[in-house]
Formats: sequence, C-alpha cells, structure tokens
Amino acid sequence: MRKPLIAGNWKMNTTLEEASSLARAILNGLDGEEYVENVLCPPFISLYVVKELLKGSTIKLGAQNMYFEDKGAFTGEISPAMLTGLCDYVILGHSERRQYFRETDEVVNKKVKKAPAFGLKPIFCVGENLRENEAGKTEEVITKQVRAGLSGLMATSELVIAYEPIWAIGTGKAATGKQANNTVSLIRHTLAGLWDEEAADKVRVLYGGSVTASNIAEFVSEPDIDGALVGGASLKDIEFLSIIKQTAELKSTR
Ligand code: PEP
Repeated sequence: MRKPLIAGNWKMNTTLEEASSLARAILNGLDGEEYVENVLCPPFISLYVVKELLKGSTIKLGAQNMYFEDKGAFTGEISPAMLTGLCDYVILGHSERRQYFRETDEVVNKKVKKAPAFGLKPIFCVGENLRENEAGKTEEVITKQVRAGLSGLMATSELVIAYEPIWAIGTGKAATGKQANNTVSLIRHTLAGLWDEEAADKVRVLYGGSVTASNIAEFVSEPDIDGALVGGASLKDIEFLSIIKQTAELKSTR
C-alpha cells in the first residue's frame, strides 16, 4: 500500500515573510489529513524558518534542488550535506532545471544517487515536451529519462517519481487523468525492468502539471497515480488544502 503524497513546489516565489505565512496557513488549515503525506518545498532561504514552524506537525519539508558534490568551491550551490536534517525530500531533475540550467540526464543521475546517502528522498522528475508528445514519442522519452536518471541506483521505496509533461507545467493545460495514468504505469513498468516488480510497486509516482483543486480528483482517482507535485496552486493555501483534502478522501475510500 503506497501512502498518497502531495508536494507543493513554491519555485522562486515567496520572501521569508511570505513563506512563513503560507506555511502557517497550510499548517492551521490541515485537519487530520494524515492519510496523505504532505510536503512543502519553499526556496532554500526559507527552509529553516519553515522547518521551525512545522515542528511537531506531520508536514514534511523538501528542497527544490541540490548539487551533487558534498562540499567545495562551487559558488552559489547547495550541497546535500547542508540539507541533511533540514529536509526530508529534494526535488531533482525538474524540467525548469533541465531547460533553463541545462541539467542533463547524467547530472540528474548524479544527484539522484547522492541524495539517499545524505538521508534525502529524491522527488525525481521526468516529462516530455510538446514536440515529443505530438510526435508520439512520450513513451520513448520517458523510458529513456527514467533509465538514465536512475542508472546505478539501488532499489529503494524512498524514491518518489513525478511525471510532469512539460507542456502541462504552468500552462493551465493539464493532461487527462487517463493520459497521466498510462504514463505513470509505463514508469512503474520501466522501474520493474530496472529493479523488479515488487520494488517498483513500492515506489510512489506522482502527476504534476497544472494541478488545481478543480482537477485533482481526476488524477488521484486513477489507480497508478499516488498524488501530485503542485506548482502554482501550492502558493494558495485554501486551494492547496483542498487538493490535500480531496486526495485524502478519494484515496482512503479506494
Ligand atoms: C511544477 O512546478 O512542478 C508544476 C507542476 O507546476 P504547475 O502546477 O504550476 O504546473
């Protein structure tokens, strides 16, 4: 039985004050939704403050990225050691990192392999772009990204994968539940090929891309989708809380 997970990726939004008040609002609005694992991913500079605020609650914290070296002369980077004890999760290979910061499958793979050694659970992102999607190449692209990104990683149920079609991120044009479920099930099948079926079955796979309170039900009603990685809608406390509550309701009655 995989525990549903809803993660909020705040991206490069919120000042320290805004991050605190958003985290406080989410914390105060949660009401026994422990059925779902909730993860907030604020910007690096707000991690410590949000962690203090969340003390004693079940809400987990995630970073939005990290470098693959332990320490050294890498000006501006954040090492896995710096995140240890601060975060439970780290988003790796987000399409915005791949697109704007030229992160390759090889770089993402180094990060994914490094995170568990520092007690961090990767939320490893994969997704095809519009051109690939329209050319019918989704399966090929996703299989390649999963194999390359996870190459050399030992089987672990601590891994979370987020299927995020690039054409759906921040566009308001989400995939359909069925489309997303097909690709999520392909991801688990690819994982079973890398590891084995039992290990693949324990890994949570999320959908991400224009998830809102109005469409979350479509995704979490699907059998293979274990939750969502939410961008824009995670910055609105009431909407994010509604996404969590609907997920708890729908997944607990399955
Ligand atoms: C994301 O940033 O991972 C994301 C899915 O963004 P949005 O929900 O805004 O499309």
